[in-house]
Amino acid sequence: MILFANSALLPGVARPDLAAHGSTAQRTIWRRKWLAAIFASYCIDIAILSLYAATGVVPWPVPLAYFAATAAVCATFLMLSEINLISRAYGHYLTIWQLIANAALHLVFVLTAPQVGFVFLGILFIVYGFAAMRLTGREAVVSLAVTAAGLAAFIVLPDQTIHIPSATRAERIITALFLMLTLARCLGLGLYASRLREQLYRRGRQLKQAVHRIEELAEIDELTGTLNRRSIMKAITAEIDQTRRTQMPLCIAMIDLDWFKIINDRFGHPVGDEVLRTFAITLCANMRAADKLGRYGGEEFMLAMPNTSEQAADSLLRRLIAISSSLDWSDVMPDVALTFSAGIARMRPDDTLESLVARADIALYDSKQGGRNCVKVAA
Ligand code: GH3
Ligand code: MG
Ligand code: MG
Repeated sequence: MILFANSALLPGVARPDLAAHGSTAQRTIWRRKWLAAIFASYCIDIAILSLYAATGVVPWPVPLAYFAATAAVCATFLMLSEINLISRAYGHYLTIWQLIANAALHLVFVLTAPQVGFVFLGILFIVYGFAAMRLTGREAVVSLAVTAAGLAAFIVLPDQTIHIPSATRAERIITALFLMLTLARCLGLGLYASRLREQLYRRGRQLKQAVHRIEELAEIDELTGTLNRRSIMKAITAEIDQTRRTQMPLCIAMIDLDWFKIINDRFGHPVGDEVLRTFAITLCANMRAADKLGRYGGEEFMLAMPNTSEQAADSLLRRLIAISSSLDWSDVMPDVALTFSAGIARMRPDDTLESLVARADIALYDSKQGGRNCVKVAA
C-alpha cells in the first residue's frame, strides 16, 4: 500500500505531535496526501498486473478491475475524510476499516484471479505493514480475527490452486520484479517506523529537558540566580519538617544589604543589579553545600543552614560579611564598600515558618539598629 517513507508526502506520520493536535483542516490535508500515497503504491501493483496481462498470464480485465477497485476504495475513504466523518466518529485515519476493506479486496482478487493469487497475497503484507503503524492493540486483534475468517472463506474453502506465475522467463522476471518492489515497500515502511520512533524519542528527550528547565526557572530568581522567594520558603519549610524528625539544629539568616538605596541612587539601577548579582554569587561560592540561599525580595536574602548551631551560623555569617566587605568593587562603583547586616534565628520546637522568619527579621532589625555591617542572633 504505502510507498517509501516520505515525510513531505506523509506528514501525518512524520509529525505525530501535530497529527494529535492539528486543526481539522490540517488533518484533512494529511489524510488526502496519505490516501494519495496509498493509491500511488497501488499503481505499482496495477503496473505489475498489466505486465502479467501483456504476457498473457491474466486477461486484461484483471488489471483494469484491480485499478477500478483500488481507486474506488481510496475514493470512498477520501470522501469520508472530506466530509470529516473520520475525525468525528471513528478516529483520525479510520485505520481498521481501511485495513478490512483493503484486505477483503485482495482476498476477493485471489479468488477471482488465482493465476496471480501470489501477487494479491504479497500485497497483503504491505497493507498490514502500513496499518500496523496506526492500529491499536485491540484493533490488531480484531483485524486478525476478521482476516482469519477471510482466509478461510477465500483461500481454504474454495477448491482452487493459487499460482505464482513462473512458467516462462518473462513471468519469472515479472514475479521477481514484483517481489523486489514488495520487499522494498515493506523495508520502506519499517525504516519509516524506526525513523518515527527515533523522532519520538528525540522529542521526548527535548520535552523532558524543557520541563526540567521550566521547573528550574520556576524556582530561580532571574536576577541573582539564587532560589526565588517561593522556593526558599518551601526549602525552609522542608528543613523545618526534617529538623522535627532528626532533632538536628536548624538556623536561618535574613540578610539585607546596607545602604543599598544609596548605591542605586549614585550609580544607577543597572549597577545596583550587577552588585546584587555579584553579591549573590559571592555568597553562594562561600557557603556550604547543604546551605540554601534565596532572594527574599529587593536587596534581602534568606539563608537556610540545616544542621547548624547558632554559634556555627554566627561564625559563617561573620565570615560572609568579611568576604563581601572586602570584595573589590572598583570596576563597578569606585570608592564604595558593600556591607550587609544579618539576623539569625534558630528553630525552636514550636516554630512555624512564619514565627522563625519573624524572629530572624527582628534580629536583622537589631543589626541595623546596632550600626549595620554586623550579625545578631535572635533571642
Ligand atoms: P538599609 O541599610 O536600611 O537596608 O538601607 P537600604 O538603602 O539598603 O534600604 P532601603 O529599603 O531604603 O532600600 C532598598 C533599595 O533596594 C531600594 C530599591 O530601589 C533597591 N532595590 C530593590 N530591588 C532591587 C533590584 O532588583 N535592583 C536594584 N538595582 N535595586 C533594587
Ligand atoms: Mg531591605
Ligand atoms: Mg538594605
